[in-house]
Amino acid sequence: MSKDFEIVPIAAFADNYVWLLRRGRYAAVIDPGDAAPVLAHLERHRLELAAILVTHHHGDHIGGIEALLSQNSLVPVFGPADEAIDEVDRPVKDGDRIELPELNTSFEVIGVPGHTRGHLAYYGGIPSDGGVLFCGDTLFGCGCGRIFEGTAEQMWRSLARISALPADTRIYCAHEYTLANIRFALAVEPDNAALQARAEAAARRRAAGLPTVPSTLAVELDTNPFLRWDAPAVIAAAKRAGGEAERPAAVFAAIRAWKDKF
Ligand code: ZN
Ligand code: FE
Repeated sequence: MSKDFEIVPIAAFADNYVWLLRRGRYAAVIDPGDAAPVLAHLERHRLELAAILVTHHHGDHIGGIEALLSQNSLVPVFGPADEAIDEVDRPVKDGDRIELPELNTSFEVIGVPGHTRGHLAYYGGIPSDGGVLFCGDTLFGCGCGRIFEGTAEQMWRSLARISALPADTRIYCAHEYTLANIRFALAVEPDNAALQARAEAAARRRAAGLPTVPSTLAVELDTNPFLRWDAPAVIAAAKRAGGEAERPAAVFAAIRAWKDKF
C-alpha cells in the first residue's frame, strides 16, 4: 500500500472495527458506532474528516455519527436510502457511485440486503492496493451476519454478488468474529486444509493482539462455509443439519440456521 493512502482499523466496543481511510491530511470513516476512538485518532494524527459512510442502521455502526458531526458539521454522511438513519444526508442505493475527492477515490454502492433490509456494501479501487470492499455485517471473516430483517434467499443473493468480485478483493468487515466463526466452520468442514491453516494463522494473530481482518475474497472462498454452497462437504453438512440442500440458496440457509443454534 502506498504511503500516502492507508486503511486503518479503529477498535470500538468489544469487537467492532471502524475503518478509517486516510490520504494526506484527509480521512473518511466507515460505520462509526462510537465517536470517541475516532475523534482521538483524528486528533492524534491531525486528520480532517471528509466523509462518513455507513452500511446499515444498527447502533454499533451509526451511534457515533452525531458526535462526529457536532465537531465537523459539513461532513457528508452516505448511507442506505432504504433505511431510516436521521444523520444520513447523502442517501445512496445499489448501483450508485460515491465520489470522495479529498481522498482521490470513489466507491461503487452494492445493495446486500439480508442482515438488514437496506444493507449496503462499498466497493472501490484504492491506489496501489487493488479492490477493497467494506461490507459491514454482511460477510465476516469466515462467517456472515445474522439474518435479522431479510430472508435467507436475499442474504444468499447478496453473498453471491460479493463472491463474484475479483478474488484479490480485500474484505473489510465490521467485527472481529473470526475465531468464533472458524470454530463453526471447522464443524462444517473438518477436513478443509485451507480452513485448518486459517485457524492456526488467525489464532496466532489474535494471540499477538492483531486483527484477523481484512482478509481477501480468495481466502473466504476457500474457507468460509457461507460462500461454499457448491462444496460437496458443505452440501453434505447442510443435509446433516436437516436442510433441503437442493439449491445453493437452500444449502446456505441450512448452514446459516445451524450456525444460529451453534
Ligand atoms: Zn448489524
Ligand atoms: Fe454490527
